[in-house]
Amino acid sequence: MALEQYRHKRDPERTPEPFGSGDSSTAVFSRSGGMFVIQKHAATRLHYDFRLEMEGVLRSWAVPKGPSLDPGEKRLAVHVEDHPIDYGDFEGIIPKGQYGGGTVLLWDRGTWEPEGDMDPVAAYRKGHLKFRLDGEKLHGGWALVRMGGRNQDEGHENWLLIKEKDDAAVPGSADAVVEENPDSVASGRAMAEIAADPERVWQSNHAEKNPSFKDKIAAKAAKKATAKKA
Ligand code: MN
Repeated sequence: MALEQYRHKRDPERTPEPFGSGDSSTAVFSRSGGMFVIQKHAATRLHYDFRLEMEGVLRSWAVPKGPSLDPGEKRLAVHVEDHPIDYGDFEGIIPKGQYGGGTVLLWDRGTWEPEGDMDPVAAYRKGHLKFRLDGEKLHGGWALVRMGGRNQDEGHENWLLIKEKDDAAVPGSADAVVEENPDSVASGRAMAEIAADPERVWQSNHAEKNPSFKDKIAAKAAKKATAKKA
């Protein structure tokens, strides 16, 4: 049910975006976190789609200005529909005229884990989720906080994405993290290169020799578990 909205907005015949298997029971989500991904999306307006794996889907927020390492910069994060886990691998072109038409670049990815004693799903529903990111570009503590007002559209509430004060924070850095690190963590390519080469993007997403991000995360989790036992 969680992906109904996602599927309703898209036509599988017309966009290369993944639709998910429809079965979230095999998802690797645990109460201790999961994968996170940030997709830079050059649509009608450029924005950054921030996604956290939770309850078998990617919970998603559209962040117009992108993340900032400055704890003083509270970035608007508009809550949007859940996306399938497979979406975390997607980089490429959504055809013009389709929902979200434009170019998608995998800007960052890695794992997240909740902070504090509260169950992360309960914290999310309460509208105040604190977590740590272990990505290629983003690290340390972060918070997603829902803004007040109960009359906002269901599923499109305004939240704030805020960097916590810690060693990974850079006060006064404004937009430096997005401006200085614009390219894809998956392919190393710039937005313009992805936009100019739809065929290659499409094929590389489907190459079997290219292990999916989900497999990489599973391998990482297994390694972590083994290390804990030792
Ligand atoms: Mn988007």
